[in-house]
Amino acid sequence: MSTGAEQREVPVTPDFNTPVEVDKLRLSTPKAPPARAAEPAAKWAGLDGLDERTTGSLVPDTLKQMGEDEEFQATAARLRALGAARMTLEEKKLRRRALDELGLPSFQQYLARAGLAVPRATSTILQLNIGLYCNQACAHCHVESSPRRTESMSREVAERCLVVLRASGGVATLDITGGAPELNPQFRYLVEQASALGVEIIDRCNLTVLQEPGQEDLAEFLAKHKVRVVASLPCYSPKNVNTQRGSGVFDRSILGLRQLNALGYGVEGSGLSLDLVYNPLGAFLPPPQEALEAKYKEELMEAFGITFNSLFTITNMPIKRFADFLYRRGELKDYMELLVRNFNPAATKGLMCKDTVSVGWDGRIFDCDFNQQLGLGMGTAGTNEDAPFDLKTMGDVGYSIFDVDSLDELASTKIVLESHCFGCTSGMGSSCQGATS
Ligand code: SF4
Ligand code: SF4
Repeated sequence: MSTGAEQREVPVTPDFNTPVEVDKLRLSTPKAPPARAAEPAAKWAGLDGLDERTTGSLVPDTLKQMGEDEEFQATAARLRALGAARMTLEEKKLRRRALDELGLPSFQQYLARAGLAVPRATSTILQLNIGLYCNQACAHCHVESSPRRTESMSREVAERCLVVLRASGGVATLDITGGAPELNPQFRYLVEQASALGVEIIDRCNLTVLQEPGQEDLAEFLAKHKVRVVASLPCYSPKNVNTQRGSGVFDRSILGLRQLNALGYGVEGSGLSLDLVYNPLGAFLPPPQEALEAKYKEELMEAFGITFNSLFTITNMPIKRFADFLYRRGELKDYMELLVRNFNPAATKGLMCKDTVSVGWDGRIFDCDFNQQLGLGMGTAGTNEDAPFDLKTMGDVGYSIFDVDSLDELASTKIVLESHCFGCTSGMGSSCQGATS
C-alpha cells in the first residue's frame, strides 16, 4: 500500500488532467430530464457551532432527502417495478450498448488485444461487506445503501468468515465495509476476533456514523483495536460533500475527523492510521493522487486543524447509483468513452481483484465489491461475458464462504471481468487502496 511518500509515475492519457482544485469543479446541468433543482448554497462557518449543528442521528435527514429527491424516487420506482436482479441486468445492457455504439470492444477483448491478462494471485485481503444499512444515502453509492436497506450479515456467516480467515495463511488484512459497517451487529465481534489474530483490520467508515446514537464509544473502540480507518471525504468543500453525500454530512465528517485526530488517528507516530478517500463529483477522472493529497492536507489543516495519513483517489464506477446518475443526464456513453480513452495498461498490474476476495453479507464470494453489487459471483457459470468458466462451477449461485475452508482453494478460479472494469483501469487506475499505477 502507498504511504504517500513514494512518487508515482503520472500516466499520459488524454483526460488525466483533472485539477487538484476540486472544490472549483461543478456539475453541468443534466442533458436529459428530469432536471434537478439546484442545491441551496451552503457556507462553511468554521468550527464555531459545529457541535450544535451535528446533534442527533443523521437518519431522519437522510430519509427526508430521499423522499424529496426526484432521482431517488425514480430509482425506487424502477426497483419496485423490475426488482434488483432485473435492474442490474438492464444496467449491464446499457453499458454494453454504450460500448457497441462507440464501436468499442468488451473489457476482455480490449485486454486481449493489448496482450494483457488479469490472473488471480495469492489472496492477501479478505474484504467483507457485512450489510447494506447506512445512515447516509449518497448519490454515487455503488452498493445503493440507505437507512431503508435491511440486508445484514448473520453471526453464523461472520463466524465462518473468521474460520476461513484463520485457515488462509496468506491473508494479512481483514477489510470491513458496508453500508455503514459499524452499525451492523457483527462489526465489533469481527474486529475483536480478528484483532486477536494479529491481522490488519480496515474499517471503511463514512465518518458521520461516529455521531450516531449508540456509537459514542466507537472511535475509542477502533483505537483500542488499532483498526485502520479509511474514510470517504470527496472534497474539502462543504458544498461538494453535501451535494454528493447529503446535507449535513460535511459538518459531521469534520467532527468525526477531529474526534479521530484527538485519539491519535492520522497523527504521525501514533500507530493509528487514518486515510481519506476522494471520488469525483461527476463524470470526470480523479486528479493525480499525490498532488490532491497535498491539497487536502493543506486545506483541512488550515480550515479545521485536521491531519490524516494518505489520500486515496477512486474513480466512480459506472454501476448502480452512479450509472443511474449518468443515464439520467444522458452521459453514460460519454463516460464509458472517457474510461476507455484513458485506459492505462500499467493500471492493470495493481487491480485489487487479483489479491482480494470479497464476501457479501449472505456469505457469497466475489472478486471485488463491484462484482458483488452486480451479482457476478465467483464460480458462477456464464457470468464471464467473453470466456465462460471452464472450471468447476456452482451454477447460478456461485461459491459461498461455506464452500471453502481456505481462500487458497480459490487460486485457480478466474476473475469475472466485464465492461464496468474499465473504471479500474482508467487514468491512474482505481482500487480500494486508491490509484494502482
Ligand atoms: S457511499 Fe458509503 S456512506 Fe454513502 S450511502 Fe453508500 S455506504 Fe453509505
Ligand atoms: S471491477 Fe473488475 S477490474 Fe475492478 S476490481 Fe472488480 S473485477 Fe477487477
